[in-house]
Amino acid sequence: MLSDPYASQLGHVLLKLISETNGLTLAHTLDLALRSMLVDERPEVATALRGFQDLVYAYHRDPTDIRSVLDHEVARTLGGIFRAFPLRFREEHIHLTGALTADFVYPRLAALLEGPHRASYEQKIREAYGDEALPIRSEADVDRLLRLQEGMGFSRYLQILTLGKLVLVDQEAHRDAAYHMAARLYRDDNIGRIRLKFTFSRATSSAADALPGPEVSPEQVVLGLYEGFEAFRREHPDFDYVLSPSFRKEASAFDSQRFASKAESFLHHVDEILGLIAKHPFLRDKMTDVDTVGDERHHYRKAHFEEMRPGMRKLASRGFRVRSHHGETWHCLRRGVQSVDNAMNIWHIDTLEHGVSLGVNPNFYFHMVFERVMALNGKGKPVPPEQRRVSRDRRHGLARPPRRLRQARARRASRS
Ligand SMILES: [Zn+2]
Repeated sequence: MLSDPYASQLGHVLLKLISETNGLTLAHTLDLALRSMLVDERPEVATALRGFQDLVYAYHRDPTDIRSVLDHEVARTLGGIFRAFPLRFREEHIHLTGALTADFVYPRLAALLEGPHRASYEQKIREAYGDEALPIRSEADVDRLLRLQEGMGFSRYLQILTLGKLVLVDQEAHRDAAYHMAARLYRDDNIGRIRLKFTFSRATSSAADALPGPEVSPEQVVLGLYEGFEAFRREHPDFDYVLSPSFRKEASAFDSQRFASKAESFLHHVDEILGLIAKHPFLRDKMTDVDTVGDERHHYRKAHFEEMRPGMRKLASRGFRVRSHHGETWHCLRRGVQSVDNAMNIWHIDTLEHGVSLGVNPNFYFHMVFERVMALNGKGKPVPPEQRRVSRDRRHGLARPPRRLRQARARRASRS
């Protein structure tokens, strides 16, 4: 729970300090506060600030449980200041399925689990979360499944989004989801503008990502989200939004029954986007970006980027911006940097999302690898198999482009 900053001495001190300074970090703000005369005169405020400063430093040293930091009264008061800020914030990076809360998901999921396709939904839930996930009997059960637990990796994170995906069964569900999200962020988090990243097409040849339930067309998805946000905007004219269709970048993330290659499938979706705007001109001002998402540990070489390049160029020629996720996960740092480089030079992305690999000092990274290997060596232990990925990939060779791409190129060459 956030605290009203106007209701406490602590809030008054922080409001005064923050409004008199500009662009300071949290650490500097706490430092200044603890030296201020305002705090000297109020010992209870000093105690709270000192306690919080200790917690923040302890968390930096050993980042285990952030709950205790966030639940501290200073954190809750700072949150209250954000919420009371006179200008609403812009949410520039939010994914539809990652943002659906348990109060939205639970009643819809319960209805599906009581419906005629119960068995296939239960099966999907077991696959994504394990046998112990069932039965789901309350909002709290859903909340627990939707949250990232300590130590969960990125691919696991992509899997825990499954519950949110299951309930988006038609246009109406997308409309309700957009309205619910806009209302929640506007009310609880002082947000007045949302750039929403959402899955444009659910087609996939990966069994782990395939969903039971009815087929939902991209048109239903886009119109549903548009209607939900517009409904909220009619009630709150200061609210605004951008729809950003997102595409999984993994090589298997396309309908291999319908398309010979990922390139062909992506180009088809690009034409669908352009077709939707031609059919519903009101979408033109709202659907202005695209994004690529997913597990990119196998998506970093030039050949990987070539597949979606023609589609990206077509979108760019129609004024679309590419705001894309790269350099977020990688098997070794070089590949993380390589994926950012290729995204910039092959897709000509306008905005890089995350780009974490660019923030890692290579000297630090490679020396850390060396130290880890030496520490294991000292104990007579081998390097764990999952950390030997680099050499294994090299042995089996990704030097040649994937077979599908070679076939597509051969077909193109024979046509011209
Ligand atoms: Zn993201």
